[in-house]
Amino acid sequence: MTAVWIDDEAAVAAAPPEAAQKAVKIEREAHKLEKRLCRLVGQAIVDFNMIEAGDRVMVCMSGGKDSYGMLDILMKLRQRAPVDFELVAVNLDQKQPGFPDHILPDYLGRLGIPFHIETQDTYSIVKEKVPEGKTMCSLCSRLRRGILYRVARELGCNKLALGHHRDDMLQTFFLNMFFGGKLKGMPPKLISDNGEFTVIRPLANVAEKDLVRWAEHRQFPIIPCTLCGSQENLQRKQVGNMIREWEKKHPGRIENMFTALQNVVPSHLMDGTLHDFKNLKPTGVPDDDGDKAFDEESFPSPGLPGLQVVQL
Ligand code: SF4
Repeated sequence: MTAVWIDDEAAVAAAPPEAAQKAVKIEREAHKLEKRLCRLVGQAIVDFNMIEAGDRVMVCMSGGKDSYGMLDILMKLRQRAPVDFELVAVNLDQKQPGFPDHILPDYLGRLGIPFHIETQDTYSIVKEKVPEGKTMCSLCSRLRRGILYRVARELGCNKLALGHHRDDMLQTFFLNMFFGGKLKGMPPKLISDNGEFTVIRPLANVAEKDLVRWAEHRQFPIIPCTLCGSQENLQRKQVGNMIREWEKKHPGRIENMFTALQNVVPSHLMDGTLHDFKNLKPTGVPDDDGDKAFDEESFPSPGLPGLQVVQL
């Protein structure tokens, strides 16, 4: 653990000055991180109208750092939210070998939050159906989706919260572009494919590195995600590494790319279904904000916070 809350003020006062200073610094950093996480999640909830009065939100818990962080922050926000809503934490125990099935019930029980553990042996089904050496993820996630919809229905939930964060969303955007030939990301809010539920991603604005730090600070009992033995998606891994390398060389690039996802200009792309290129006609009226067709685009100088000149 790299950070702890300091509960015992007397202990801090009695500590040698250097240790006390360090403790205060850690406390301050943790407090700043908590505030940032709450602000970013709150902003996503407001911007995309994710949670409304009377909602019963099923928080999908995998046992990974992201879902723990999501539940933690949603619980904090619930206490001060201007609207009343309910949270129900749900974990699907897929009977992967070695899955420690006491960890989540123990943790959620201590939180005092309504929760449900659904036990369904999808692992055996997937093992039986998918030939050895082939990736199991597509069948596994299809089965999981169906079960989670049923559980949400049985628990009376109208919304499902998933723990994907900003970096997941960017990775998906590039995966779709590189391998799927589509400009398509991971939406912060959508309607489930069966038309029944609203699916929300409250961590949409949150950087993965902040979730790593928060998980360390809160000492979440993380369950490893490799239990099924399936190989991590190689393409996603490559794209993740690519984005991290860009960020290392050009700090601020992730932020810029993420901002770009929220500033789409269909008239400057090439999708005729989003912009009617065929029937485009001069209006004869000058427009100061119009397109300067022959001018070079200019970009802010490097060094401005959050803005980087494009360099590949
Ligand atoms: S990594 Fe394992 S548990 Fe996750 S979707 Fe793939 S097969 Fe299922």
